[in-house]
Amino acid sequence: MNVVHLYGLDLIIKLEFVEVNMEFSELQKIAQNTLNERRLSRLATAGTVAAAFLTDKGNVYTGVCIDVPAGMGFCAEHAAAAAMITAGESKIVKMVATGVDDNGCGCAPCGRCREFINSIHDDNYLCEVLLEDGTITTIGELLPYRL
Ligand SMILES: [Zn+2]
Repeated sequence: MNVVHLYGLDLIIKLEFVEVNMEFSELQKIAQNTLNERRLSRLATAGTVAAAFLTDKGNVYTGVCIDVPAGMGFCAEHAAAAAMITAGESKIVKMVATGVDDNGCGCAPCGRCREFINSIHDDNYLCEVLLEDGTITTIGELLPYRL
């Protein structure tokens, strides 16, 4: 708490600093724990890929993929983005996606997800992404000619 003197008045200002420096290993663990492969119906499965987003406000949003015939499903990143936007946020600072076949490693977002994430906040091209080999890159580097 800080006190500011203004026109003879003491104003008490509460400053809040959001902790957004979560390590990738922690975000990766959250994504791994979100995996939940299961059959939803005779036509649909879910949870073979999970994503975890860390926002600029320090919140983590997760989602899993939903796979149905005819391409009507969506990626884990879309599910995490929907949860994040529902909660009123859209700026992602770090993201990890992982699949049941990835041995816990990160996996790069598909092209559609790269464009989608880039589109939902003007600064999301700076969002850091954990890749399969442990490399950390950004959405902007994955989309060199982004819109
Ligand atoms: Zn995708």
